[in-house]
Amino acid sequence: MFSKILIANRGEIALRILRACRELGIRTVAVHSTADTDAMYVRLADEAVCIGPPASRDSYLNVAAILSAATITGADAIHPGYGFLSENADFAETVEAHGLTFIGPTAEHIRMMGDKITAKTTMMALGVPLVPGSDGALESLEQAREVAAKVGYPVLIKAAAGGGGRGMKVAPTEADLEEAWSVARTEARAAFGNDEVYLEKYLDKPRHIELQIMADTHGNVVHYGERDCSLQRRHQKLLEEAGSPALTAAQRDEIGAIATAALTKLGYRNAGTLEFLYQDGQFCFIEMNTRLQVEHPVTEMVCDVDLVREQIRIAAGEPLGYSQSDIKFSGHAIECRINAEDPQTFMPTPGTITVYHPPGGLGVRIDSALYAGYRVPPYYDSMIAKLIVRAPTRLEAIERMRRALDEFVIEGVKTVIPLHRKILEDPQFRKGDYTIHWLENFVARQQQG
Ligand code: ADP
Repeated sequence: MFSKILIANRGEIALRILRACRELGIRTVAVHSTADTDAMYVRLADEAVCIGPPASRDSYLNVAAILSAATITGADAIHPGYGFLSENADFAETVEAHGLTFIGPTAEHIRMMGDKITAKTTMMALGVPLVPGSDGALESLEQAREVAAKVGYPVLIKAAAGGGGRGMKVAPTEADLEEAWSVARTEARAAFGNDEVYLEKYLDKPRHIELQIMADTHGNVVHYGERDCSLQRRHQKLLEEAGSPALTAAQRDEIGAIATAALTKLGYRNAGTLEFLYQDGQFCFIEMNTRLQVEHPVTEMVCDVDLVREQIRIAAGEPLGYSQSDIKFSGHAIECRINAEDPQTFMPTPGTITVYHPPGGLGVRIDSALYAGYRVPPYYDSMIAKLIVRAPTRLEAIERMRRALDEFVIEGVKTVIPLHRKILEDPQFRKGDYTIHWLENFVARQQQG
């Protein structure tokens, strides 16, 4: 087992990883920018190293500074968290070249899944169902026309290097295809320096359902069930649930078996998430994330597992020590992302937290690095806390979440707590009857009303 881990991240996820290290008896090194000197995770770590000025490219994305910090502190592994360098194959390679362990998959698998076309062709060959569309990159507009005619309109042109919803354009009819094709390519070239695009049938009412996987280095692969992340605004998830209100246990077992078989054949290791669009009883793979996800706590709550602990144990070469049949799903969990944003306009609201009182009680978990007096810096993501609840049933979890949100006091910055309250009261949400378009429509109604 490792004796010291450097956490190449900030905020709540740095604290989350630190907690797992503590319980495993592993010492921690926090790295931080000059904007995060007073952060909670920096205070709690055994050692802390300043790696640069506020801008991410100079600090949290500064590979040389992070590796120097690891060397001078004598860390033997690096956990990248999510975002920043977590899906950077070159970083994973460089870490290993310096004789340190990268807590995550191999650079080869990160690279493979980072290219969405390679990811899709790989998954298809491994028997995972896909959204109907082009077999690979589109060579020409004529080819796009042919494929679109075959799968039927509306269609979506997507960037191979895509991420964050950029380089993605819908063509409702054939008349719109040429424009979608050129806009998607221009956006992709500007955002990713790569204008390769592919085509998918545009699904009109899918849910976003993702499967949490873990693989050790001894050939054992398990899944911990699904998360429903359909509640998104501008492709940013806001509220997640485990399990999905749309799935039965049999459907979960079925897609879980397909996914674990695929990743076993691939020789994948560590944590991964397969993202699917789910419509009319069909799963369609869209992409794989080769890292820990923001929303991992809902899975932890229903499976009673510490996913970060599992990542660390696996990176140290330990076997999982259990099999699929040992994983039991108990109750229902919901996560509300608490962003420092105006709940109407979604404009970020950095500033100083004057009063902070987190909720408590049975089945309530807070993953946050906030404290009274903390200054939310303007340079990074606006998510300042995750509130997670678990209860025996979905409706009880909703009531528990409403109760916890009522207790939650954050003063000094505006947050999206009022929006979460409204979502949880909505009859359609309470029935579990929603798709990936639901939240945008809900927000539009709120803004009008
Ligand atoms: P990115 O990596 O840019 O986030 P994804 O492929 O993960 O791109 O897609 C992001 C979101 O876009 C999905 O969660 C879904 O809401 C929507 N989307 C993607 N593909 C389709 C599709 N074929 N039909 C309908 N919506 C889609």
